[in-house]
Amino acid sequence: MYDFDFFVIGAGSGGVRASRMASTYGARVAICEDYRVGGTCVIRGCVPKKLFVYASEYSSHFSDSKGFGWSGGEQTFDWPALIAAKDKEIDRLNGLYIQTLNNHNVEVIQARGRLLDAHTIELTSAEGTRTVTADKILIATGGWPQMPDIPGIEHAITSNEAFHLEQLPKKLAIVGGGYIAVEFAGIFNGMGVNTHLLYRGEQILRGFDQDMADKLNEEMGKKGVDVRVRTNVTEIVKTDEGLLLTLTDGSTMAVDAVMYATGRVPNTKGMGLEEVGVTLTANGAVVVDEQFKTSVENVFAVGDVTGKIQLTPVAIREGAALAATQFNDTPTLVDYENIPTAVFSQPSIGTIGLTEAEAVEKFGDDLKVFRSEYRSMKFTLSGRPERSLMKMIVQKSTDLVVGVHMIGPDSAEIAQGIAIAMKCGATKAQFDATVALHPSSAEEFVLMK
Ligand code: NDP
Repeated sequence: MYDFDFFVIGAGSGGVRASRMASTYGARVAICEDYRVGGTCVIRGCVPKKLFVYASEYSSHFSDSKGFGWSGGEQTFDWPALIAAKDKEIDRLNGLYIQTLNNHNVEVIQARGRLLDAHTIELTSAEGTRTVTADKILIATGGWPQMPDIPGIEHAITSNEAFHLEQLPKKLAIVGGGYIAVEFAGIFNGMGVNTHLLYRGEQILRGFDQDMADKLNEEMGKKGVDVRVRTNVTEIVKTDEGLLLTLTDGSTMAVDAVMYATGRVPNTKGMGLEEVGVTLTANGAVVVDEQFKTSVENVFAVGDVTGKIQLTPVAIREGAALAATQFNDTPTLVDYENIPTAVFSQPSIGTIGLTEAEAVEKFGDDLKVFRSEYRSMKFTLSGRPERSLMKMIVQKSTDLVVGVHMIGPDSAEIAQGIAIAMKCGATKAQFDATVALHPSSAEEFVLMK
């Protein structure tokens, strides 16, 4: 008899959901975590990031308010006060997660887990090392920021450290052009930091709809972010004043800090996975089948550690599906079609389904593309030069809406609603038949001609 029916390594979004559900189905469950229960999303990802986005948006709100008749003294921003408030909220959420696991009779073990064999886990903590056994094991250890190996890279920070900086830098360079890079560029710029975004490729947000990427680049520029494409850093040197970056064109840039947002790699190092026969990809991702089974019969993996779609709600779905399949006799697959996603850049982006380029590849000229570009009503009085862009991609022969993209205020909130319609297989005619909600930005999606 094993100590547990189910042992989960990693208490992030996927691991917590899987353990909680498995316990609900009657399994004897334990979960180990070497840092803080909640994982990347709660502790150093989505949640603190969104709080920072809110904080940084006040600078624009204050200047917008003047156009509506408000006036008042200069507003000042207190970074340590924000960090303290954010930490308090993260502590609260961390406590809630632990409480939920306790309430579901999941044993929470503060330790680092490593597989010794297919049923034995070694647990290492400040108290020492011990082993436990389990019938089934889940690897849900998430991912970790990766940085390129260039001279001086030890002076760079990642988003992990950005959440705990003692002081707000005056001048900052962010390297990368993905989700994290553009989100943090907006955050720091909004907080008054002289922000430079350095991206190696032709246009930021590779893989997103090209019009959204182009628009974000343009709008970030209007807000004062120095976006430089076809630019990378070749060396970082620490100086008395801060850091000196050498760029690919040979020029230099002096900054107080440089943050790398150059992707995340699966957290599988030193976990004994390959030793027990779990197959990993070249970058360390755990290879799983559609039911999250690894190459070892009783070992499973969900979430970022599988190196597929790195999104919290996806990890949660996967954890729930795994628990239902293994412990409730209900084989459950995750449907990866039309997953909505948002980039909390400024302005934000909401997106569902195919980009125009993907749709062209899939459907050729069997397509109609609708676009609407406008200035939000709020900015007519505030004078903010920001413009929004919406796009709908429709397969001509079926009238199915296959892609929806928006950049502008409230994009994330709007995209969630549109995603439901797309999941139901909505056609353009059905969007058109929906009465507009006026005055709103979202109504543009039912008025596209
Ligand atoms: P991304 O994969 O989104 O972007 C990585 C960026 O770094 C790309 O622009 C890439 O360029 C660039 N890059 C990679 N290697 C190098 C290098 N050696 N030198 C210079 N640039 C490099 O990763 P992020 O770190 O931004 O985010 C990780 C994941 O986390 C995302 O993919 C997303 O799934 C998730 N996430 C989701 C959020 C949300 O839902 N709002 C928010 C934050 C993260 P290139 O395009 O040329 O490859």
